[in-house]
This record gives sequence, C-alpha cells and structure tokens, in this order.
Amino acid sequence: MTGSGDAIQAPVRARADIAAERSCLRCGTTFWSEGFGERICTRCKGSSAWRSAVPDGVGQGRRRSGGRSS
Ligand SMILES: [Zn+2]
Repeated sequence: MTGSGDAIQAPVRARADIAAERSCLRCGTTFWSEGFGERICTRCKGSSAWRSAVPDGVGQGRRRSGGRSS
C-alpha cells in the first residue's frame, strides 16, 4: 500500500499579521510593529495628539463621483 499524501496544508497567514518593521504613519520613523494594526510608533501613540481618530483634512484622495442614473 502506498501511503497517500496526507499533506497538511496549513493556512497561510497574512504576512501583514506578523511583527515587522514598519514606518510610523504619523512621523514616518521606522519602528517595530507587533502586528498589522500597529501603524503608529509608541512615541506618537503616547503623544497627546494621537487619538484613535484620523485627523480631519488628511486623506483627500478619494473623490466620490456622482452616481449615474441610467
Ligand atoms: Zn511616530
């Protein structure tokens, strides 16, 4: 009998979900992020200016196009 391949395919986890070096979205400095959700360096996080909210005026790239009614 030939042992059929019982390969266990472990689900590949998103690479972004691992600790890695990232650039702070706030100051741009490189810091060690412990996870994907970590995008702000501890310094900025500790700063009083940092609040889990995105400051107004940032991110003016998306523009909504008026919906077309057929
Ligand atoms: Zn920072």
